[in-house]
Amino acid sequence: MKQIIITIAVWVAAMFASAQFSTPTLGFGYGALEPYIDSTTMFIHLNNHHAAYVNNLNNALSKYPDLQKKSIEALISNINALPVDIRTAVRNNGGGHYNHTLFWTLLAPAGSAKMSAKLEKKLNDNFGSVDKFKAEFENAAATRFGSGWAWMLVDKNGKLTITSTPNQDNPLMKEVEAKGKIILAIDVWEHAYYLKYQSKRAAYVKSFWEVVNWKEVEKLMCTK
Ligand code: MN
Repeated sequence: MKQIIITIAVWVAAMFASAQFSTPTLGFGYGALEPYIDSTTMFIHLNNHHAAYVNNLNNALSKYPDLQKKSIEALISNINALPVDIRTAVRNNGGGHYNHTLFWTLLAPAGSAKMSAKLEKKLNDNFGSVDKFKAEFENAAATRFGSGWAWMLVDKNGKLTITSTPNQDNPLMKEVEAKGKIILAIDVWEHAYYLKYQSKRAAYVKSFWEVVNWKEVEKLMCTK
């Protein structure tokens, strides 16, 4: 009997442990970003795509209880320290989980989180103007071949830079050359825009400006 109870306890513990990561609750409804990002895309993006990264990540970690205690940042920022058999899975799916979790916080219903004068000045100082900043970011998003992300980063001295990465990589990863804290992100995988924009990635990126959560961008910029 005791053995059965222990077996059940271990099984239950394993069940919970293997579900370490989960998709977040959005700060707005699926349709709140319409017409710029459509409701169906938001629903599928979170509940199918993001959820798949989470499931795959949890499955990859299921054999390694010690790793299940680590934060997502700790896991993806030191991939070479992980067991060889799960490095690719954690890079792709851990990256996917981190990137999407951040991305959702950087979106907000149109007009609800406008750019402050302080942030506008910072963009002017770094890029010459807000329009030049947008053009550089749009170019990074447009020229990322295949699937990936474009980023704005801030370095230790407060300098802003724009870059992009393939797949679900991001600048937290040692494998990625660009370094800095992410303060803005756009997902340019086709699943992020194809239902509404089909092959017109540039139109999606233009619409993205309408639903950026500039308050969150500024918060990330100003916190260590
Ligand atoms: Mn995505």
